[in-house]
Amino acid sequence: MIFSYTQISQYLRCPRSYRLRYLDGWQERDTRAGMVFGRCFEQALAALFCKQDPEAKLFQDWGAYRDQNLQYKNGDSWDRILHQGVHLLQRFAQDERIRIRQPQKNIQVKVLRSLSGGHEFVSYLDAIGTLDGMRRILDWKTTTSRYPEGPEGVLTLDSQLISYSWASGMPDVALVVFVRKHAPEIQYLSASISEDGQFSSHSGIRYPQNGCLSCPHLGLCLNNQQLIDRNLMRKPGAADLDWLDELAD
Ligand code: SF4
Repeated sequence: MIFSYTQISQYLRCPRSYRLRYLDGWQERDTRAGMVFGRCFEQALAALFCKQDPEAKLFQDWGAYRDQNLQYKNGDSWDRILHQGVHLLQRFAQDERIRIRQPQKNIQVKVLRSLSGGHEFVSYLDAIGTLDGMRRILDWKTTTSRYPEGPEGVLTLDSQLISYSWASGMPDVALVVFVRKHAPEIQYLSASISEDGQFSSHSGIRYPQNGCLSCPHLGLCLNNQQLIDRNLMRKPGAADLDWLDELAD
């Protein structure tokens, strides 16, 4: 059996949906414009690193969907999204913060990790490269709203990045977020995932699984005393059960 992050997170989100998709074969059609564009944009980024013309690549790939019946949200249109994409590509090239050596080898990297019982865990990393000179797993995201940048360390709770880091053995990760809005913006968010980073089914900072940001226990997971003091108090007597944690360790 080969497992993946998407597969496991889908199962944890809803076992029935998992069954319908992975066992009964019901796959979602490509109708959401934002999602389709995201894939075209990633191809344009790959073209940029391969010293090809990224704007031409974006126009070619996104152009294939011009007359298709895609679902557009929030007043989006094919033209508007293309314009935003070109603007983001230009900004990204000007920033020059990301470098990828040997792009054929380091873009869309397949990583397999063996599990007990002959099973395997597969991950497809968007890229491995450097952000401001530091080698990291790179994950591209296209979105219409900014990602949260705080509190400090919140990215280390992102379950997808935790699984990528675990599978590849690389602690340093970065999300490069291409924000499609009136004035397009790129966020470069980095984190170092510790070896004991825990995969939690409903954790995360990304829409719609941004459970950590509204979770009252965030301070404990980030070891942030200020947040703990602000949001939590411990029930009298609860500390008496701490020996259970020691037993589990
Ligand atoms: S306990 Fe809360 S903050 Fe910690 S990982 Fe789970 S959802 Fe996120």
